[in-house]
Amino acid sequence: MASIFTKIINGEIPCYKVAEDDKHIAFLDINPNAKGHTLCVPKEEENKVFDLNKEAYSDLMDFSRKVAIALEQTVPCKRVGMSVIGLEVPHVHVHLIPLNDMRDMTFQHKVSLNEKEFVELADAIGAKV
Ligand code: AMP
Repeated sequence: MASIFTKIINGEIPCYKVAEDDKHIAFLDINPNAKGHTLCVPKEEENKVFDLNKEAYSDLMDFSRKVAIALEQTVPCKRVGMSVIGLEVPHVHVHLIPLNDMRDMTFQHKVSLNEKEFVELADAIGAKV
């Protein structure tokens, strides 16, 4: 069965899209640890990050780096943290999280944004990618 991220990639369910290229998409995490928390996802569905072949792995890291630089230019933070988990959605994704505090990396410290904030944030980050 297609992952929820494949459904986003195929346009079957909506997302707050930040950026896209032929092999990847970046969109805002719907339950963010911090304002600007972004997911970078390869369009080809693979479960675990280290099962990607070397080229796909390095392409994903290049794409994530571009998005992270745009994110750091857009959202005030000390730095952008990166994490790969995948326990909830078994489709490879890189979490990019603007950090001001170690708690921002814990996935237990969540922030809530309204629809307008999500849209404006995704557009602002995307404009810099
Ligand atoms: P994990 O698989 O443990 O890395 O966590 C999956 C992440 O995807 C969580 O941070 C969720 O909030 C996020 N997520 C799940 N569904 C969506 C969605 N439809 N749009 C954006 N983010 C999502």
